Amino acid sequence: MKPLQGKIALVTGASRGIGRACALALAEAGADVAVNCRSNLAAAQEVCLLISKMGQRAQAYQADVSREEEAHNMVEAIRQDLGPVSILVNNAGITRDKTFIKMTKSMWDEVLGVNLNGPFNVTHELVGQMIEVGWGRIVNITSIVGQTGNFGQANYAVTKGGLIAFTMTLAREVARKGITVNAVAPGFIETDMTKDVPPATLEQVKAMTPIGRLGKAEEVAAAVAFLASPQASYITGQVLPVNGGMYM
Ligand code: NAD
Repeated sequence: MKPLQGKIALVTGASRGIGRACALALAEAGADVAVNCRSNLAAAQEVCLLISKMGQRAQAYQADVSREEEAHNMVEAIRQDLGPVSILVNNAGITRDKTFIKMTKSMWDEVLGVNLNGPFNVTHELVGQMIEVGWGRIVNITSIVGQTGNFGQANYAVTKGGLIAFTMTLAREVARKGITVNAVAPGFIETDMTKDVPPATLEQVKAMTPIGRLGKAEEVAAAVAFLASPQASYITGQVLPVNGGMYM
C-alpha cells in the first residue's frame, strides 16, 4: 500500500511549477488531489488527467486564494466532491519586485494578499476538518528569501518570513491534534517565477550555490511529499531548505 493511500490533499497554485510537481508527487504517494488554480483551468485539468492515470482521484478548482469567499467555496466543494482534506500544501505565491523606495502600496498589498492572506484563508477553512479527522499535514512553501531577505523583494520577503513564523505558531497550536505544520524553503528553482531573471543574475546565483545549478520543481516536491508522509510524524514547526546549499 502507498503511504498516502486514502488521504485527500489540496495543493494551491498547482497548475504549473512547484505546485504542479507537488500535486503529482502526492498522487504518486497514493493521495487523491484537489488541484487549485487561479486562472488556467485547462492546465489544472491536465494535471488531474495525469493523476487519474496514476489511479488516484483528482479534481481542478479555480479559486483566487487571496479572496476569502473563493477559498471558502473551494474548500466546501472539495469536501463534497472528494471528502475531508487532511494534507494541505500552501504553494500559491507571487512576486512584484521593486526596491523598497519605488515599491507602491498596491505592490505591497497584492503580494501580502496572495502569499499571506491566501494561506490564512485556506488553512483557516481546513484546520477544523483536520482536527475532526485527527490527522493532518500542512506544508507551507516559503523561500530562502524569507530567511535572508533579498534586494528588491521587501514585500515578498515579508510574506515568506511571515509564513515561517505562521508555521511555527500553528505547529505549536495543533501539535496535540495529530497535525504537523512545516515549511519548505526553496532556493532558486527553474519555474515561470524565475524564467525572467536576467542571465547574468542566474550565473551569479549558480556561483553562490554550492551544488552549482538551479533546483527543479520535482526536488522541492520530494521534500513536500516527505513532510506529508506518515514517516514525518515527529517533525513539526520546521523549515526544510531545498536550496542547493545556498544558505546554511
Ligand atoms: P509559479 O509562478 O510557476 O507558480 C505559482 C502558482 O501560484 C501559479 O500557478 C499561479 O497561478 C498560482 N497563483 C498565484 N496567485 C494565486 C492566487 N491568488 N490564487 C491561486 N493561485 C495563485 O511559481 P513557482 O516557482 O512554482 O512558485 C510556487 C511557490 O514556490 C510560490 O509560493 C513561490 O513563492 C515559491 N518559491 C519559488 C521559488 C523559485 O525559485 N521558483 C523559490 C522559493 C519559493
